[in-house]
Amino acid sequence: MTIGETTHDAAACLRALWDHVSQQTKVRYSTARTAPGVMGVCLPCLPGEGTAEIFLFRDTLPVPADEPDVNTEPLVDTCRLAHEFGHLLSFRERGGRRIRADAAAQLQEEELAWEHARSLLLTLGFSEWAAFDAEREKSL
Ligand SMILES: [Zn+2]
Repeated sequence: MTIGETTHDAAACLRALWDHVSQQTKVRYSTARTAPGVMGVCLPCLPGEGTAEIFLFRDTLPVPADEPDVNTEPLVDTCRLAHEFGHLLSFRERGGRRIRADAAAQLQEEELAWEHARSLLLTLGFSEWAAFDAEREKSL
């Protein structure tokens, strides 16, 4: 698909997003959840200081685990991957500084990551905003 077009094809959207994210991070599925109920994680890194990593958690690992799984739940994966990448963008914007540990600062960071996700998905022609908002609500 071309940037700027609108698509209802979740598989195409996940592929386009995965390609975009892979230019700046390593991304893969994992079964090693960092905590129960956690859907994904971003291990951020500043440019030139190594490679950032994003893991999308699953109970069962798709094969291969380092390519977009367009058969299981591509729409959900698109939202979650965009969100985790949003954390990387947020981390880079603040120059790698830590976020305060209090709940308000943590929530602000979550909301910021979702806003980055929304902006990025807009450029990729994503159009399933009800699903996006549902994932966002679940995570906040
Ligand atoms: Zn998050």
